[in-house]
Amino acid sequence: MKNLLPQNLIRLAEGCASPLFVVGGSVRDFLLGYPLGDKTDYDITSPMREEELLSAAEKCGFLIRAVYRHTGTVKLEDGEGRGYEFTRFRSDKYIRGEHTPSETFFTEDISLDARRRDFCANAVYYDIKKGCFADPLGGMEDIRRGVLRTVREAEKVFSEDGLRLMRLARISAETGLSPDEECLAGARQNASLIGDIAPERIFAELRLLLLSDLKHGDAEAPLRGLLILKETGVLAKVLPELTLGDGMEQKRAYHDHDVLTHSLLCVRHAPPEIRFAALLHDVGKPFCMLRDGNFHDHDREGARIAEEILLRFKAPRKLIEETVFLTLNHMCDFDCAMREGKVRRKIVRIHEQLPALLALKQADFSACKGDLSPAPTVVKWQNILIKMQEEGVPFTLRELAVNGRDLKTAGVPEKLTGRMLDELLLYCAADGSRNGHAHLLRHARILMKSEMRNW
Ligand code: ATP
Ligand code: MG
Repeated sequence: MKNLLPQNLIRLAEGCASPLFVVGGSVRDFLLGYPLGDKTDYDITSPMREEELLSAAEKCGFLIRAVYRHTGTVKLEDGEGRGYEFTRFRSDKYIRGEHTPSETFFTEDISLDARRRDFCANAVYYDIKKGCFADPLGGMEDIRRGVLRTVREAEKVFSEDGLRLMRLARISAETGLSPDEECLAGARQNASLIGDIAPERIFAELRLLLLSDLKHGDAEAPLRGLLILKETGVLAKVLPELTLGDGMEQKRAYHDHDVLTHSLLCVRHAPPEIRFAALLHDVGKPFCMLRDGNFHDHDREGARIAEEILLRFKAPRKLIEETVFLTLNHMCDFDCAMREGKVRRKIVRIHEQLPALLALKQADFSACKGDLSPAPTVVKWQNILIKMQEEGVPFTLRELAVNGRDLKTAGVPEKLTGRMLDELLLYCAADGSRNGHAHLLRHARILMKSEMRNW
């Protein structure tokens, strides 16, 4: 493993009198056979005091980014901009459910440090100077067998820190390690403790889980993680609106799965950019079924509920907007009955979001019956889009053959130019050959005489 570590880290270890270990994700992933790359996060640890580390780090040209003395944590950055998190060997005491320990004791005993961690596979240490592993809890054997086991009695480990419930699903998703029965049972018993964790932290873990295939390239990763959240009851605490769809039957002709399973499978078939929308696109279905006895309007209700959920998670505004848009529009032309003229106008209106919407439609289609062939609506819309491109249909105001100034010169009142430009853009959607300067000015005059009076 030593050959793969950053040279700066090796120099730092050699500059310390005490041993310095790599621990956590990088050691686990190395033992799993995954490559250590530029993005690898190195967690380092040692029985030494922070002072010893700080002076060695300064001598080696590291920047000290932060020092938290109560937990013995130091954040470092080497000359190449790579970050490291150092934690001194310690043992933690928790108040039930709180993420931060109530008391911390520093120790020289590596097995005490191992036992304050979450999973044995995350508690394998690599002694950088000696070039050998230290494995106080048998984590290497777990990794070999492909299992995730808690460092102590599972019920206790999860009761101390609800965030571990999310880490269990996320790490299992990323690594392919499967929780053993005791681990799952301990998580199940403590599922409600997720309620004590800040929504931002839950969101960060959920996001990593939904993108877990990107870590080591395993396409099944996000679904694996979601199923663990479901199985442990954590999903019902985090996304109760979605798990109301568990066991909720759908029309057999179109669906092989209940509403919840379909939503999870949709994530499996969706590209990374739209995973939240894939998860939430049908979140309105349980609500509508329980209120009305049918799924009508589930797109509109779903968009409202998806927004509520993402606001609760304090998700970034852009993600909320995209997810709400996609949820609201995912049923658009689901039966391929929309006339071409209307599809063309819709394509122009939502031009920027079109790739995401088509990707969601494809994922939604494939998640219904496992059919990976192109979805009929997607094929239809893509063909129309190609025709429009060949005709030279403008999709943005910049591509339109007239601009605001032209319209002003032609006598369109200034306060109406914006609206008029939008109208002209939609007018061109039907036929790209309409996008000529004279043609559009003529049409603008017609609109001024007729429809504009109602604007
Ligand atoms: P990644 O590959 O995503 O970095 P990681 O396992 O290294 O995964 P980190 O958050 O970097 O995760 O944490 C480093 C190590 O610290 C973990 O491997 C684990 O040993 C310990 N750890 C982190 N968070 C917790 C927690 N909430 N409870 C117990 N131990 C934890
Ligand atoms: Mg890490």
